[in-house]
Amino acid sequence: MTIVAKIWRMKFQAFLTLFLIFQGAVVAQDTSVPEPLDGREGRELLLKNFRPRPQLKVAEHLRTKAAFPVVDVHTHFFYKLRSSEQALDDYVAVMDRNGIAVCASLDGSLNGRLEEHMKFLWGKYKERFVVFANVDWRGDGTEDDPASWACHRAGFAERTARELAAAVESGVSGLKLFKRFGLEYKNPDGSLIRVDDTRFDPIWQACGELGIPVIIHTADPAAFFDPIDETNERWEELSRHPDWSFHGENYPSRSELLEARNRVIGRHPKTKFIGAHVANHSEDLRVVSGWLDKYPNLYIETASRISELGRQPFTARNVLMQYADRILFGTDGPWPEARLHINWRFFETSDESFAYSEKVPPPQGMWQIHGLNLPDSVLQQLYCENACRLIPGVKARLVKYLQMESEEVQP
Ligand SMILES: [Zn+2]
Repeated sequence: MTIVAKIWRMKFQAFLTLFLIFQGAVVAQDTSVPEPLDGREGRELLLKNFRPRPQLKVAEHLRTKAAFPVVDVHTHFFYKLRSSEQALDDYVAVMDRNGIAVCASLDGSLNGRLEEHMKFLWGKYKERFVVFANVDWRGDGTEDDPASWACHRAGFAERTARELAAAVESGVSGLKLFKRFGLEYKNPDGSLIRVDDTRFDPIWQACGELGIPVIIHTADPAAFFDPIDETNERWEELSRHPDWSFHGENYPSRSELLEARNRVIGRHPKTKFIGAHVANHSEDLRVVSGWLDKYPNLYIETASRISELGRQPFTARNVLMQYADRILFGTDGPWPEARLHINWRFFETSDESFAYSEKVPPPQGMWQIHGLNLPDSVLQQLYCENACRLIPGVKARLVKYLQMESEEVQP
């Protein structure tokens, strides 16, 4: 046997030995039953298996109807119900049971869906819904080719302003901007469109002239801009929805986004802006208070943020009391009815340490909330009075609802 052949044989034997060891290890791993990480009998516990049952026993004041008539200024009847008549009938029954007089559906895109959406809601329930329009940024452009989008063509903002004027003629009550504006829509060079891009100023100005508010969703919860690691307070949620994360160099920072939005609000003092989701900064209400002081044309609404407000009940109560004429009630629904009951309990009672959602695990952070026990006058401002003042079409509907209710009480 030549030296070369000997070396090859040794190599082959070594390879065979390693292969057998490796295979043995794999086989050994395959046959062992993985331990359930359930925290029992000394085993580790996976976060997704953690289902603590609170032992706290405190007074409960459950609510199944709001104390005063409600206007829900933040709902998505297109995105959540599509065009199901049955689902709409069912939800109007939920509104009746809960004392929700009017919902503002924010899904009326100017891409042609607006009319369809108004027909869907107003066919049977014109008195219970107002509709907000959405800017059609893309127009007849191609989804993945930003250069082809309508919003980059000359005269886009002026054209949109004219479309909005026509929409208001046909009964539209406001304009809604989604978070994709700032986080997704792009310029022809691939950069993100800035929220304060001056090309779009004529749109915000037109809303002021038409007397309709702009509800603007900019950025997202603070935790969505942090790395998804063991220090992230919404790790549990982000581990299930990693696509909700805006961390990293592909996105502007959260403060850049919010500052750009604030510059738009500052540049258009005659236009009323509703900062969706507590102006998306419910993690620091001192900052939100500062914005409310600085911008008299800024309002805030509570959709999907009782989880945040309720973990700082003393601060939240103070802010809602101090700015009682600037707050609006919103849910981001339609949600299951149980979520509405939690909202009434949150704003109306001083119950301690309860779940902010009917979902298990809780969807927006693994904590409990505490009720705000707002006085009646503030509840009325929050639930309906401010919306009546700010959103065209709401007051007339509320008056009719109250008449209908009183007729039902006195047959
Ligand atoms: Zn929403």
